[in-house]
Amino acid sequence: MQDCLFCKIVKKEIPAQIVSEDENILVFRDVNPQAPVHLLLIPKKHISSLLELQDDDADLAGKIQLTAARMAREMGLAKTGFRLVCNCGRDSGQLVFHIHYHLLAGRAMNWPPG
Ligand code: 5GP
Ligand code: ZN
Repeated sequence: MQDCLFCKIVKKEIPAQIVSEDENILVFRDVNPQAPVHLLLIPKKHISSLLELQDDDADLAGKIQLTAARMAREMGLAKTGFRLVCNCGRDSGQLVFHIHYHLLAGRAMNWPPG
């Protein structure tokens, strides 16, 4: 999508610290990290939010979760743990309308979330 920030990151029109990339999924560091490790996992395909996921995207959605687990293992976070967050819609605080999963780690997280 032309005016989408994360599509521009996918197309390398905007720089990002990319930590993993395959045919369908991009992982990069959040520009405003909320924890010592704060990654964003996105499908390269533009999907605006979790509510727009279609049945055809089930494989892609599953692969994003598997990528999160792989990243956690590779970055040495498996033992201490991490949080995977997908904000959806106004009340969640979603600001970028290209579906993304935050992988947060490196400090103890609070519950309930703010
Ligand atoms: P949301 O609130 O939509 O779930 O989260 C959007 C996230 O994208 C925020 O954590 C914000 O810091 C991050 N973000 C916004 N613009 C950029 C950018 O240009 N580059 C990177 N790497 N992250 C961004
Ligand atoms: Zn997009």
